[in-house]
Amino acid sequence: MKTTQIEELMSDPRLLTRVKIENYLLVHLGLRPCSQVTLPAELPNGEDFGAAIDKRVYPHMSRIAATADPRKRLAAIESVKREMRTAFREVVEASDQYRGHLEWAEALDLRSLSVEVRPTVQELYLFRDKGVGKRLKRLMKERERLRRQVLRRPPPGLGRSRLAYPEEFHGGWLREMGRLLGYPGCCVDRYAADREEGVYVEERAAEQVKEAAERGAVDPLAYFVGYFFPCRPDCEAALSRGRECRERLRGLDPALGDVYGSVVAGNLDRVRRQPQIIAEYKARAAAASRRRYEG
Ligand SMILES: [Zn+2]
Repeated sequence: MKTTQIEELMSDPRLLTRVKIENYLLVHLGLRPCSQVTLPAELPNGEDFGAAIDKRVYPHMSRIAATADPRKRLAAIESVKREMRTAFREVVEASDQYRGHLEWAEALDLRSLSVEVRPTVQELYLFRDKGVGKRLKRLMKERERLRRQVLRRPPPGLGRSRLAYPEEFHGGWLREMGRLLGYPGCCVDRYAADREEGVYVEERAAEQVKEAAERGAVDPLAYFVGYFFPCRPDCEAALSRGRECRERLRGLDPALGDVYGSVVAGNLDRVRRQPQIIAEYKARAAAASRRRYEG
């Protein structure tokens, strides 16, 4: 990679700094098989895009609430989903920021796979090897199957998130996904076992950071990519991934080592605050849905 290309990437305002490093450079350097970015949430103007989509879709939501006949209701839901997809295409996919992501994938010789998770949420996977793409496609199919299965026959007493994201509670699925994202085996195993047992992982991880901080300093390098939860803050496997990433980025450009330092510090901070972030998000979503039905 040429110095000018690195400078160009790092000064491009269409991508978040963390995404440039973790999703693009680390995959480009072969330090992880694949990365995942959630759109529009992880675009620099993610919240604005989300709000713009909501504004377009909300007026149509009342159609569902106003329809009592189950068959007509289903048709109303489908038509709202179509509105959502159109909004996503016209707001997100047509944006400069979205285009920037695809352009950089091409410039860095990365393959990409876009997957619709919900009509207004897309996951963009980046990888180098064709084989990784095949494994990803298999996983995506499996996710569809798990979702259909749980909808057809919802086990009694299942919470909303287990209904919407059953794969997040399926050990085999989580392990394969973790491997593809380049997470250490010990951390993937702990995460998958926790989820299967119904442990609230975000809370566990935040608690671990707090305890470790009380004993001394926590090394942020264990949080070597965002939204990754090490089995323990001092997990040697996770720490060594972080050290390797830092060394290889420094090799590319000495300044990137410092940039990476602030990225992992941000990752650690997010893990520490994650339970609070989720609680705030849920409160916002509940308020939005109240507004939707009252307004
Ligand atoms: Zn570990």
